[in-house]
Amino acid sequence: AQHFLDRSQAHANLAAFVDLNAETTLAQAKAADARIAAGTAGALEGLPLAHKDIFVTRDFATTAGSRMLKGYRSPFDATVVSKLAEAGAVTLGKVNCDEFAMGSSNENTAVAAVGSDTVQPVRNPWDTKRIPGGSSGGSAAVVAARLAPAATGTDTGGSIRQPAAFCGITGIKPTYGRASRYGMVAFASSLDQAGPMARSAEDCALLLSAMCGPDPDRDSTSLDAPAENFTRKLNDSIEGLRIGVPKEFFGEGLSDDVRSAVDAALQQYEQLGAKLVPIALPRTELSIPVYYIIAPAEASSNLSRFDGVKFGHRARDYGDLADMYKKTRAEGFGDEVKRRIMIGTYVLSHGYYDAYYLQAQKIRRMIADDFQNAFKECDVIAGPVAPTVAWKIGEKSDDPVANYLTDIFTLSGSLAGLPGMSIPVGFAKSEADKGLPIGMQLLGNYLDEARLLNAAHRFQ
Ligand code: GLN
Repeated sequence: AQHFLDRSQAHANLAAFVDLNAETTLAQAKAADARIAAGTAGALEGLPLAHKDIFVTRDFATTAGSRMLKGYRSPFDATVVSKLAEAGAVTLGKVNCDEFAMGSSNENTAVAAVGSDTVQPVRNPWDTKRIPGGSSGGSAAVVAARLAPAATGTDTGGSIRQPAAFCGITGIKPTYGRASRYGMVAFASSLDQAGPMARSAEDCALLLSAMCGPDPDRDSTSLDAPAENFTRKLNDSIEGLRIGVPKEFFGEGLSDDVRSAVDAALQQYEQLGAKLVPIALPRTELSIPVYYIIAPAEASSNLSRFDGVKFGHRARDYGDLADMYKKTRAEGFGDEVKRRIMIGTYVLSHGYYDAYYLQAQKIRRMIADDFQNAFKECDVIAGPVAPTVAWKIGEKSDDPVANYLTDIFTLSGSLAGLPGMSIPVGFAKSEADKGLPIGMQLLGNYLDEARLLNAAHRFQ
């Protein structure tokens, strides 16, 4: 723990940590040492972890990247955090993310890193002029820079997979409902899911085993699926594994660097005995408009709790109650969050609900059905995580739609609630992006995480 705290300080230029508390971390580490000495060590005993600042924590501040939660401290730990602690993990600190997990670049954070007065996105350790991806950019950056052996993340539409790809690490988003959402600051409740981000599939499997399990009393959408040991299939042969390759994931807009790295990885899978099966996911393109209706609709409802009354920011000067709400929300939320609240309120409003929200829900079901058809012919699906490598800070920050379009390959799996992961498969070779990491996405059927991790582990 001391080693990683020292590294975090030495690499403060990455702007990844938003809260550190060495005393608490070292006290937890000492307690872990004592359990090891007593022979009562848990599966993750003494492992220092960074938590995405979307998980509420008792011993560290929680901001969800928002001015709205500045100075907020939760009276309890998120279930995922307490489950990891029960397995022996030590909390190193909290890491930055896009505000309320809305974003693909970390540029939507409103919170400054530890030791800095200026709000800035987390830096990509491979090139500090680049974004680390988002929204779990802090988690990906600290693992890539070895400021933490592993981190937690959350994925609503790609926020574990895309930053993992951009920072050259491994991440897995389990089946929707596997991990409890209790204590995860809500963005879009029908999509939000927690998962680990680490150096390898094996590390992810160890962490995921501790994070999952039913939580019916606190999360009504938690699945009635028992906790599993996700390491059990890691070393199985993948001889005969059918890998579905959707042609829609290799169309226009995919950069040459990503295409050739993913193609090479697919060839390597063939050498390992897997069979490549061409499949179709015909509604891939529709996942962007469908997601950017459903997620903002749910967000507009979830964020109504930030009203200046119960917790977080409250405007200093106001007239009546309505004025207090208005000023608090105008001051507390950033532009992207306001944009989503407006879109969400609009698509849910009388007269537009049928045209937008209901229509989006119908297409969401069709997208899920397309996956079920595909899984008749294959065991896992493989393709790129994102169309390009990490872009430069500022390059797309004035253009929300340009950001939304980069989510094209991750959104459909999220809408269907499927497990998905990102594994590093190579580096860009073009002059402009040379040396930047590239990730490949693996999607599996419901509850098939162990097989995904097996496929990833055999590759690594
Ligand atoms: N980039 C997507 C968005 O902005 C996904 C974010 C996420 O998965 N939390 O909504």
